[in-house]
Amino acid sequence: MPTVRRSLTDAQRREFRDALNARRQEMLARQGRVDASLSDAREARSGGQADDEHDPEGPTMAATWSQLTGLHDDLEVELTEIDHALSRIEAGTYGVCVNCGKPIGVARLRARPYAELCIDCAKAVESH
Ligand SMILES: [Zn+2]
Repeated sequence: MPTVRRSLTDAQRREFRDALNARRQEMLARQGRVDASLSDAREARSGGQADDEHDPEGPTMAATWSQLTGLHDDLEVELTEIDHALSRIEAGTYGVCVNCGKPIGVARLRARPYAELCIDCAKAVESH
């Protein structure tokens, strides 16, 4: 494996590791709240009439349900990205674009600490 050119100072790596860990805690807390709402919704569903078709709350419940599961999945994706970023910090490859190998740039990392792509590669992906 080729040696990756360090694009960040140790202090910057610590800064991003702390930011990622804080973000991770926040996401986990948020996911906990979403999961609590989901189990409430599940209980309300099973506690109500079994006949969904004639339940006036049915469509509302279904909308809430899909909104909550959507939120849960979004948080899951972000948590995965954060975990990947943290393991890249451990591996010393953090801050380097996974596509072209160039430094991602501190400003971009501050805005999006789990960015895997440099701004040029991200634009290229988005324009497809
Ligand atoms: Zn790149």
